[in-house]
Amino acid sequence: MKHRYMNTPVNNEIQWRYDLLEAIGGQVINYGIDPALLQYWRIYGGQQGIWVDKQRTAILTDDGRGLAVGLIHKGNIYPDDFDETGVIYHYPVTARPPARDIGEIEAVKNCHRLNVPLFVIKVSELASSKRDVYFGYVTMWDDRAKVFIIEFGTSDILAANQEERLFELKVLQPKGLYQATTRPGQAAFRIAVFCRYSPQCAVCEMAVIELLDAAHLVSKAEDGNDDPRNGLPLCALHHRAFDKCLFAIEPGGFAVETKRNGPDRYELGITKDALEYEMPPHPSALEYRWERWVRECGGE
Ligand SMILES: [Zn+2]
Repeated sequence: MKHRYMNTPVNNEIQWRYDLLEAIGGQVINYGIDPALLQYWRIYGGQQGIWVDKQRTAILTDDGRGLAVGLIHKGNIYPDDFDETGVIYHYPVTARPPARDIGEIEAVKNCHRLNVPLFVIKVSELASSKRDVYFGYVTMWDDRAKVFIIEFGTSDILAANQEERLFELKVLQPKGLYQATTRPGQAAFRIAVFCRYSPQCAVCEMAVIELLDAAHLVSKAEDGNDDPRNGLPLCALHHRAFDKCLFAIEPGGFAVETKRNGPDRYELGITKDALEYEMPPHPSALEYRWERWVRECGGE
C-alpha cells in the first residue's frame, strides 16, 4: 500500500509507521510476530500497556507528551471488547504516580488529534511466545467511561461515512450455528455503537464500561442487524427494562416514554427525557421498535 504525504514532521511520523507496517507484513492484522522484532522496530519498548516513544515523538505534540506507538491488549480480561474490527481499550490504572498514567493517556489522545495511526499488540493466536499486531486509528475516547475506541484499518477508515451506507432493517443470518453467548460480531457491534453514541447509557448517567451493553432496537431474534444505527448504548439495568417493555423511545422526538400504569421514569432510574444524540438511531429501526412496544406491551 502506498502512503505518501507532504514532508512535515507529523507526516514523516505517519509515514514511518506505515513503513513499519510494511516491515512486519503489510496487513491490518499481522500474525505471529516475534516480540524481539517489535522491540527492534520500536513498535513496543516498555513494561506498561501503552508504549510512548517520547524520545522521538515528544517534539511532535503541543503538550510535549508525545505519541503512543504500541498498545498491549490483554485479551483475557476484556474478551468482549476486541475483535478484528477494533478494540475498546481501557485507560491504564496502575500503582504508579497518576501523572504517568495521564501522560500515556494523553499520548494516545494525541494520536487522534494528529490522525496518527498506532499498533495494538496481543498474545498470538498461533503461539503464546509470539504476538499478533493490529494497525489502526483512535477514532474516539471517553473520559467518563475511561476508554479509547481504536478501529483497525488504514487511513481510508477515517473517511468512511456511515450515514451513506444502505440501512437494512433485517438481515438473514445463519440459524443454530452459534450460541448467543459467543455470537460473531458482538464486539464489532459494541464498538460501533459506543463509537456512534458514546459509551454512556442513553437514558441515565451510567458510564462504567463494564455495565454498558450495546442493545439492539430490532433484536437478533427478529433478524435485526448489527449496524450501529440499529443500536443504543444502555446500562445493564436499562437494557433489561427496555427488553421488558418498561420504556420505549418515541421515534418522532426521541422522547423516553414509560407505561401509563407505571413504573415511571423516577422508579426506573431514568434521568433523561429524550435521546440526546446528534446522530440518532435509524428512523425505521426506532419505528419498528415503537410499534412493537405499542402492539405487544400495551405501550401507552
Ligand atoms: Zn441506564
